[in-house]
Amino acid sequence: MDTTDNTAKSSIWTRIARSVKNQYDLCVIGGGAAGLVVAAGGAALGARVVLVEKHRLGGDCLWDGCVPSKALLHSAAVAQTLRTAARAGLDGAEPDVDLARVMERVNAVIRTLEPNDSPERFRGLGVEVVFGAGRFTAPDCFEVGGRTLAARRFVLATGSRAAIPPLPRLDRVPYLTNKTLFGLREPVPHLLVVGGGPIGVEMAQAFRRLGSAVDLLESGPGILPREDADMADLVRRRLEAEGVRFHFGSQIVAVRGEPGAVRLRLSREGAEESLAGSHLLIATGRKPNLDGLGLDQAGVSVTDGRLVLDARLRTANKRIYACGDVAGPYLFTHMAEHQAGIVLRNALFHWPARFHPRAVPWCTFCDPELARVGLSESEVERAGIPHQVYGFDFSDIDRAVADDAAEGRAKLVVSPNGKLLGAALCGPHAGELIHEYVLALSKGMGVSDLAGVIHIYPTLAQINRRVAEMHLKAKLTPAARRWMQRLFGLRGSRP
Ligand SMILES: Cc1cc2nc3c(=O)[nH]c(=O)nc-3n(C[C@H](O)[C@H](O)[C@H](O)COP(=O)(O)OP(=O)(O)OC[C@H]3O[C@@H](n4cnc5c(N)ncnc54)[C@H](O)[C@@H]3O)c2cc1C
Repeated sequence: MDTTDNTAKSSIWTRIARSVKNQYDLCVIGGGAAGLVVAAGGAALGARVVLVEKHRLGGDCLWDGCVPSKALLHSAAVAQTLRTAARAGLDGAEPDVDLARVMERVNAVIRTLEPNDSPERFRGLGVEVVFGAGRFTAPDCFEVGGRTLAARRFVLATGSRAAIPPLPRLDRVPYLTNKTLFGLREPVPHLLVVGGGPIGVEMAQAFRRLGSAVDLLESGPGILPREDADMADLVRRRLEAEGVRFHFGSQIVAVRGEPGAVRLRLSREGAEESLAGSHLLIATGRKPNLDGLGLDQAGVSVTDGRLVLDARLRTANKRIYACGDVAGPYLFTHMAEHQAGIVLRNALFHWPARFHPRAVPWCTFCDPELARVGLSESEVERAGIPHQVYGFDFSDIDRAVADDAAEGRAKLVVSPNGKLLGAALCGPHAGELIHEYVLALSKGMGVSDLAGVIHIYPTLAQINRRVAEMHLKAKLTPAARRWMQRLFGLRGSRP
């Protein structure tokens, strides 16, 4: 027997020994959007999958995030439609809001969607579902409920939670986060919202429209700091018109209170003021769920409270991957699902798939919605990237006027050779309309491609063509027009 044979035999034995030890191909930790997609996809592709969840399947999106917040915003929008019906030539009325009934409806929406994420459904798909909070005991072993799960690959999909700022005495005051907000049943006469990001802004508008007085505090100079200030300002103006009061550049120096009565002391430009409300919502960002997982036992590196990952979403331990909010940096359900696909390809097939965040869209679902994909104007300016910016207002879109939704605008950021670099839309259904730009950006299309697409009249989507046409118009300089007149014998006035 030669040495090649020996090597081949020993590698076969190593593989057999490993597969006996590894009961599972894939052990997924966390049953939210990311973990569920990995688990279902892995099982569908023929892997033996175990899914560990410490609470209930569905994660933040179903129980405490996207679904309840959008359901609440829907009730708020209906209330606003009633209130403003006179604008449509009908009798309007101030809605009689019973928050308990509104929250029951929010809960009913969750219950309608819950079966999609139920343990029964996942067991039916061939996934073994284990409930409990476990921890790594070795680089290839995860212990939960007295069982040791050995797997070829692990996926961390434990999500994120509300980051609580170190405000003086906050721990002694009853405050709400996204975990507790949708459990409210009592009236909320006056909500104080801390944080002007998407969650704070959406909830400020929802509660205001449902009849609460709302104050929103933000330490920065404006809301939605990831967006261009001019676009975020369109949202701020609408919320302000509806009665949300903003406190920018204010630091909270003290918090006091008891259930139903909260008081904040604010400091702004050296002056102090005090603000009282009935409820306090903390919406100051998110923190990855990494505690208690035994990551040091597993050889997984964490820096500044965040996982260290490569472009294939692998941790420092090459058999452990991560996706979703715990991986970051884009904390959205659609990104959790997208990353889950990348992890599946890498973990099961050794088919290198990389995370290229080029055309990541998102939307803040206030009214008007603010959606974006690619680079913003301020980002290209900061990076010194040559660019042009084109804008078009919804007030010039016939359908928006007919629908009494003519506030807002589209904005394109374009390279000098006409390639789309980014798009932002603030207006009705912006979260739907943005997808045309997502496709254009991910396929590297030029703005003239968009301008040449036929859009149905009268739709809001016409704004996508009209703003793209602004780029073509800008190219039609007086010199180019004179040249065409000469070439084709056109007889209009000379520019
Ligand atoms: C108020 C709010 C509104 C939002 N709105 C939107 C929106 O409109 N659109 C959008 O795209 N995104 C939205 N998001 C973000 C979205 O909810 C998250 O991006 C998404 O839920 C991330 O999915 P995930 O699977 O990574 O994490 P999660 O959904 O949080 O799931 C993680 C799971 O892991 C479990 N877990 C945690 N630790 C352990 C452990 N040690 N062992 C076992 N299991 C564990 C948790 O119980 C949970 O079930 C919103 C978030 C909030 C808070």
